[in-house]
Amino acid sequence: MTEVTAFIGLGSNLDDPGAQVCKALRELDEIPHTRVSAVSPLYRSAPMGPQNQPDYVNAVAQLQTALGAEQLLDALQAIEQAHDRRRGEHWGPRTLDLDILLFGDSTLQTDRLSVPHPGIAQRNFVLYPLADIDATLAIPGAGSVQSLLAQCPQDGLVRMDRVA
Ligand code: ATP
Ligand code: CA
Ligand code: CA
Repeated sequence: MTEVTAFIGLGSNLDDPGAQVCKALRELDEIPHTRVSAVSPLYRSAPMGPQNQPDYVNAVAQLQTALGAEQLLDALQAIEQAHDRRRGEHWGPRTLDLDILLFGDSTLQTDRLSVPHPGIAQRNFVLYPLADIDATLAIPGAGSVQSLLAQCPQDGLVRMDRVA
């Protein structure tokens, strides 16, 4: 069975975000033909888009999966639904967001999927945890995670295990 290394971005800012993210990490490991091979520390970040919403808890998980990218997206959306994700305003508050950041070295552009995830190069809450898992990572079409980090201010991003 051929396995692909995929990276998933997790985010939550409603209903006990830290618990939402930790539960989702366990659920990722229960996706068929898929296991979690590494998990970043948790981070706290300021919201993108609408500012009248709580801060986010973010993390990144590395998976080994025999699923195709769209099958993996189906599984991620089922987990979001199980966390009572409601579709509201663009970049509005949510109990759980699961994005496919990378799927092996694939570049995909379909109705349902853009991979690498289009926000990857600008979002500190994605780049820092990605580099925690694999500091040598290269993003197809965008360069090394180190070069992207060098251009991405840490701003309000806080590693939660380093809070005094
Ligand atoms: P952003 O994608 O900018 O982080 P968002 O996560 O708030 O925004 P959603 O409302 O969660 O966006 O997702 C909208 C759609 O994005 C999904 O229905 C899905 O089909 C599509 N999509 C495209 N590329 C990806 C990807 N790499 N991972 C997850 N969803 C994706
Ligand atoms: Ca997202
Ligand atoms: Ca999403």
